Amino acid sequence: MPGSELIGQEERKEINDVLESGILFRYNHEDLRNNHWKAREFEEELKKFTKAPYALMCSSGTTAVAICMAACGVGLDDEVIVPPFTYIATIEGVFLGGAKPVFADIDETLCLSPTAIEKAITPKTKAVMLVHMCGAMAKLDEIIAICQKHNLILIEDTAQALGASYKGKMLGTFGKMGSYSLDFFKIITAGEGGAVVTNDEQMYLNADMFHDHGHDHIGNNRGAEKHPVLGTNYRASELHAAIAVAQIRKIDHILQQQRKHKKKIKERLAKFSQITFRHLPDPEGDSATFLSFFLPDEATARKTTKALAEAKIGGIQYWYDNNFHYIRNWEHLRGMKSLFKIPAMEQAPQDYATIQFPASDAIMQRLISMVIRITWTDEEVEALCQKLETVFKGVFE
Ligand SMILES: *Cc1c(COP(=O)(O)O)cnc(C)c1O
Repeated sequence: MPGSELIGQEERKEINDVLESGILFRYNHEDLRNNHWKAREFEEELKKFTKAPYALMCSSGTTAVAICMAACGVGLDDEVIVPPFTYIATIEGVFLGGAKPVFADIDETLCLSPTAIEKAITPKTKAVMLVHMCGAMAKLDEIIAICQKHNLILIEDTAQALGASYKGKMLGTFGKMGSYSLDFFKIITAGEGGAVVTNDEQMYLNADMFHDHGHDHIGNNRGAEKHPVLGTNYRASELHAAIAVAQIRKIDHILQQQRKHKKKIKERLAKFSQITFRHLPDPEGDSATFLSFFLPDEATARKTTKALAEAKIGGIQYWYDNNFHYIRNWEHLRGMKSLFKIPAMEQAPQDYATIQFPASDAIMQRLISMVIRITWTDEEVEALCQKLETVFKGVFE
């Protein structure tokens, strides 16, 4: 799966550029930095890769979500429609932005269902936080149409799907803003880090100010810069940016390997009529970081998960039981256990403690994902396919 499999001399070279000058800060110090601007360089690479006109690197995928919220003016008293199947960070980003999450069901894309979004809209809904889960896309055409019809801001949490596309256009570039994560488990990594992209110059300027204490970054004297708005510190360091630069140059290779391996495994599993695959609105655009499939029912999915573990097949996720990715086990959220008072505690739009998601449960109970590794050899993929065939024959006999 992630770029962490490919950390090597390219990353070391970029880091050394930074260490040799000692300038770990992304701004200023023009005379000392040997002309190395790694955060800027990463942003240029990201723009080239995503074809987004504007990009900003930041400290994490979580802060990237919060930056999108702030830049788009989503905050107190605003409701944001979110999926119950995501990494909890999406929800944290909404809280950090001061807004209230409203959960709506997913469908077999593993992303928000267009009809569920429409049902969750209230007069307070300001934005839809669409998560392109497990490496691939939601039903974008329908969701964009709903956002237009109801005048909602679309933000794409693309933390898990950098490099995936829909009808040839990169995920993250459909909404008003898109966010990415560069944490250790993502498609490319900087150790920690994130980024936002947008087509809208004002959103970029807002993000740029907000993520650095409101600085307008005009001129080259930091102390003399103006602070048109309040902000915070969600900056990336040059060390993280250096790794990110090396990693984004590997992304075409990463996607190519993932797609090649996934195609082979999927073809071999397709002959089991009991297995169905995650719905991909545009299969060509899948980043192929996971192979996600459904078993006929929960019992068979649990039996399969157990059999895969016994066969020592790695990278298997039975998300329904997962502590961090599905609302069922988010006890801290369900109990609103916050260290301080957050807006969502007052007049919460949903009773997070008791709300149920039978439609999402029905999908999650049958779902298994398998991580696709980049560094597998063809022989390893073949051996894995054989092991999988043995496991499934056993499960279905
Ligand atoms: C990983 C992830 C994030 C947060 O990224 P961090 O860089 O770990 O803060 C946000 N949303 C989703 C969907 C993620 O998978």
